[in-house]
Amino acid sequence: MKLEGLVNKGILDLSPYKPGKPIEDLERELGIKNAIKLASNENPLGPSPLAIDAVTKVLNGTNRYPDGNALRLKECLSKKFNVDINCLTIGNGSNDIIEFIARSFLSDKDSAVYSEHAFAVYPLVVQAVGAEGIEVPAKEYGHDLEEILKAVKENTKLVFIANPNNPTGTFLSPKEIESFLDALDKNTLVLLDQAYFDYSSYSNEDIGFDLIKNYPNVIISRSFSKAYGLAGFRIGYSVSSPDVADFLNRVRQPFNANSLALVAAEVALSDDSHLKKSLEINLDQKSILVKGLKDLGYEYIPSEGNFISFNSNGDGQKLFEGLLKEGVIVRTLGVYKMPNYLRTTIGLPEENSFFLEKLSALS
Ligand SMILES: *Cc1c(COP(=O)(O)O)cnc(C)c1O
Repeated sequence: MKLEGLVNKGILDLSPYKPGKPIEDLERELGIKNAIKLASNENPLGPSPLAIDAVTKVLNGTNRYPDGNALRLKECLSKKFNVDINCLTIGNGSNDIIEFIARSFLSDKDSAVYSEHAFAVYPLVVQAVGAEGIEVPAKEYGHDLEEILKAVKENTKLVFIANPNNPTGTFLSPKEIESFLDALDKNTLVLLDQAYFDYSSYSNEDIGFDLIKNYPNVIISRSFSKAYGLAGFRIGYSVSSPDVADFLNRVRQPFNANSLALVAAEVALSDDSHLKKSLEINLDQKSILVKGLKDLGYEYIPSEGNFISFNSNGDGQKLFEGLLKEGVIVRTLGVYKMPNYLRTTIGLPEENSFFLEKLSALS
C-alpha cells in the first residue's frame, strides 16, 4: 500500500511537534533522581491546591461524560472577565483552539501569516489543512508588524500573533497591536495567542478581551497550562465574536475538555492567591536568572513570559546535551531556526540556582 498517495498532501512532509523531554525519561537514562525540567514553560509551583482538592472530589463521577458545553467553566470565565458566554470556546488546551481556527477557516486555496521564531504549532496546523503558510522575518526576534501587514495577500484569511511570543518572550504593546489591527483588512482574522498573558500583564499594560468589541476579526486565546499550572489537564479557551465562536464550536469534538480539567480550571480561576504567588516568584526569579546569564557571558532575549531564551555562544545542541548529563532539561531551538539558542523556563529558586551552577560549570 502506497500511503504517500493516500495521505493528505499537507501532512506528507509534516514533522511531529517535539515536546520537552519528560523528567522520568532522563532520570531513567542517567540513573539519577534529582533531575530538573525547565523545558516546557510549566508553573514550577504546581497547580492550585484548591483545584486538586476539587478534582479528587469529582473522580467518582467520571463514569459520566463531561458537560459537553462546559457551561460552568464558561460561567466562571464570563463572570471573571466580563465576557458574554456566547463569545467563549473551550479547548483541550489552547492548541485545540488553534486547530479549530485552522480547520474552520483555512483550505488549500488560502494562506495564513505568522512570524519567524513564532510558536511552532502555527505552521503545523496551517500545513495540516493544506493551506499555504507565509513566514515573515522577525525583527529583533519579535513580530515585525509592518512586514506582516505587507505579507498579507488576497487569499490570506488568518494572521497569527503570539504575545508574548514563545520561544523568544518578545512583547508587543496594546498600542502596537491596535495600530496593526487598524491597518489590517477587516476580513482577515487574527489569532492573538495570549498563552502568557498572566505573566505579561503582571508587569505591563496588556490587551484585555474588550478588544474584540472593536475588532470582531480578532480571536484571543488563553491557556490554563502556564501561569495556572494545569498543563497536564489540557484546558484552554478563546474569546471571539459570537459568530466566530459558533464556527469554532462546530468543528469542536463533543467532549473535547474532560470533566477533571473543567473542574480544575473553574477552581484555579478562583484561586487568586496561588496565581499571584506564581507570578511573584516568576518575576523575582527572572531577574536572578537574567543576572546569572549575564554574569556567565550569555546574551539573552528580554522576556515577558515565564522563560528566557539565550545564546549559547556556539552549538545549542551541545550545551543542551551537556546540561542533560547534569540532570537539567532545557529546550533547544533548532526547529525555531535558532540553533545557537536555548530556552529555559523560570523555575523555583532552587531549580534556577541548580541550572546556573551547572551552566557555569559547562561555560
Ligand atoms: C504553551 C503555548 C500554548 C498552548 O498551550 P496549551 O497547553 O495547548 O494551552 C499556546 N501558545 C503558545 C505561544 C504557547 O507557548
